[in-house]
Amino acid sequence: MTVPPPTEGVLVDRYGRVVRDLRVSLTDKCNLRCTYCMPAEGLPWLAGPQLLTDDEIVRLVRLAVRRLGVTEVRFTGGEPLIRPGLVGIVAAVAALEPRPRISLTTNGLGLERLAPALRAAGLDRVNVSLDTLDAARFARLTRRDRLADVLAGLAGATAAGLAPVKINSVLMRGVNDDEAPALLRFALAHGYELRFIEQMPLDAQHGWDRSTMVTADEILAGLRTGFDLIPDPAGRGAAPAETWLVDGGPGRVGVIGSVTRPFCGDCDRTRVTADGQVRACLFATEESDLRGALRAGADDEELARRWRTAMWGKRAGHGIDDPAFLQPARPMSAIGG
Ligand code: SAM
Ligand code: SF4
Repeated sequence: MTVPPPTEGVLVDRYGRVVRDLRVSLTDKCNLRCTYCMPAEGLPWLAGPQLLTDDEIVRLVRLAVRRLGVTEVRFTGGEPLIRPGLVGIVAAVAALEPRPRISLTTNGLGLERLAPALRAAGLDRVNVSLDTLDAARFARLTRRDRLADVLAGLAGATAAGLAPVKINSVLMRGVNDDEAPALLRFALAHGYELRFIEQMPLDAQHGWDRSTMVTADEILAGLRTGFDLIPDPAGRGAAPAETWLVDGGPGRVGVIGSVTRPFCGDCDRTRVTADGQVRACLFATEESDLRGALRAGADDEELARRWRTAMWGKRAGHGIDDPAFLQPARPMSAIGG
């Protein structure tokens, strides 16, 4: 017998996982073209009217925080810093009761300029993506010569009081897989928390290949050529990163082994795309349309019902190792990473 979704309370799935963390994509557009994410020519972007308005975004976040148990809100994209209303959205979310913790995942372009306003609006933390410290590699990898802007963005985030400032790095074989120790040295020297993320089959070009992916084990082996790592006694919790103390601490490094060390059993996330679709998982092949309901005049009760139903259907795991695995139609940049 199929168990129906709950009609009230927090977002929960049939495996008992409770949602606390909401990821909201503010745009599918981006000013970089990372090779593991997008083709050089970009993608067919969502049209303006398809995007949730600032008010619609805040309404959904308010619902999630007040009625559905969300305590963490992360804005992402595409590149969230290019959304014109970003500072106002952050301010409106920071004014919610109960106030969620608010973070941002960004490529760092423009962060130097925007960080003070974002901090003043209520942004707590930031994750900046940076895969290499070599300007020529950066230009090859992102197809834009902007390393200096990212480094300035990181410094600007610290200066504005955003804490912690984390760095997300993806290693690719033959491209930057020799750079793990240098990235860690850089992060430790500047007080940034570094986390490596295994490359996932979420690129628009569908070019991911397991055999060429740099695995968590390989990342750790690379780091151990320069550092002594011991498992962080603080453990992992619902956070996807497994963390290690570097040379006895207090510096740390994280590895998110999404593919080889999946953490689906502890996942506490829900996602809303820039066009208002709820996704239970990065790898979900189904979406639930909140924008259509919003614009048809649905009340909070109805929106909550749809959201609970969407999460109830979350699969147990991403199934990348399943021979029947199908990469989702939307790429990472359109889902919100
Ligand atoms: N543009 C922002 C940025 O780059 O941080 C936010 C969106 S981006 C999709 C979010 C994160 O996803 C980045 O850290 C990026 O490195 C990561 N990412 C993108 N494609 C990926 C892939 N195929 N596998 C693993 N991580 C990926
Ligand atoms: Fe843009 Fe982020 Fe994708 Fe790079 S990873 S192309 S910065 S959305």
